[in-house]
Amino acid sequence: MKIRELGGEFKLIERIARPAKDPRVICGIGDDAALIRVDRGVQIVTTDMLVEGDHFSRAYFTPRQIGIKAMEINVSDIAAMGGTPTYALIAIALLRNTDVEFVDGLYEGIYAVADRYGIDVIGGDTTHGAVVAISVTLMGEAHQEHPCLRSGARPGDHIFVSGELGGSQAGLRLFLCGIDGFDDVKRKHTEPSARLDISREVAGYVTAMEDVSDGLASEVRNICRASGCGAVINADQVPIAPRVREAAKAVSGDALEYALFGGEDFELVYTVPPEFTGRAPGSCVGEVNDTKVITIRQGGEELTLEGSGYDHFA
Ligand code: ADP
Ligand code: MG
Repeated sequence: MKIRELGGEFKLIERIARPAKDPRVICGIGDDAALIRVDRGVQIVTTDMLVEGDHFSRAYFTPRQIGIKAMEINVSDIAAMGGTPTYALIAIALLRNTDVEFVDGLYEGIYAVADRYGIDVIGGDTTHGAVVAISVTLMGEAHQEHPCLRSGARPGDHIFVSGELGGSQAGLRLFLCGIDGFDDVKRKHTEPSARLDISREVAGYVTAMEDVSDGLASEVRNICRASGCGAVINADQVPIAPRVREAAKAVSGDALEYALFGGEDFELVYTVPPEFTGRAPGSCVGEVNDTKVITIRQGGEELTLEGSGYDHFA
């Protein structure tokens, strides 16, 4: 059976997952990162890999940008748990004839992000392969009182996003269509920035949190699935930068579709109890309810969400 026939990446992970046996594992497979109870708090561990031809192309990513993105996407998963990143291990697969300058550029990006967040690179692995790949394993720490899982959302909570969406997908389309200019939008794809700032601000009161790696619709669906509830997303309230709308037009695309289903924006999605909505940063894009479905409301129309976000095997 092909992975596609099984139902894709998410079904595959369900199939291979097994529960942790150690009771100190607060959260294993199924969230943005794993949480392990330690003496004085919560240890976080996460890993994410970028593969040439799938996640990046050397035709439009500089080596430095590959390093930046590999790090930022992992910081984003730590931010999604309400934690602070600490130590990284970096595994790289390189072509046999790779120039040393490529690796220098890669690590310039890696260390720039490490310095920005106070992360130490403490190990890794170097090998060769048919394509370039980089896998970062990132550790972090969270407060014992409020690690932010996906499973805590409750009917009546408001759904917020930390910033504008759709830019990464618009940037990718610009590259693929070979359109000049729009460098600011293209950088949304090549140099994403994790929202550790927002995570620190909201970690104390959000009921669930996740980062936007697969698109807003997919992240809301994940939170609802884990929390046993449904939600309404108000599409008209999804924040999209005017430049991203312009870029989408230039590639004959739809900026809202990029925001909902594109992914890789690495903003945060979080659910906030009604008493905290007045102080929550970002944009309110919907509400959790006690149905089991995700409804997307746009203008007067309503659409029930069927598909998910990006699936590597779809
Ligand atoms: P994210 O998009 O936040 O990085 P993923 O969709 O990659 O999350 O992964 C979802 C969950 O499945 C995470 O808990 C991750 O650790 C786990 N996971 C993904 N791939 C594997 C694998 N090959 N083996 C075990 N767990 C996996
Ligand atoms: Mg994530």
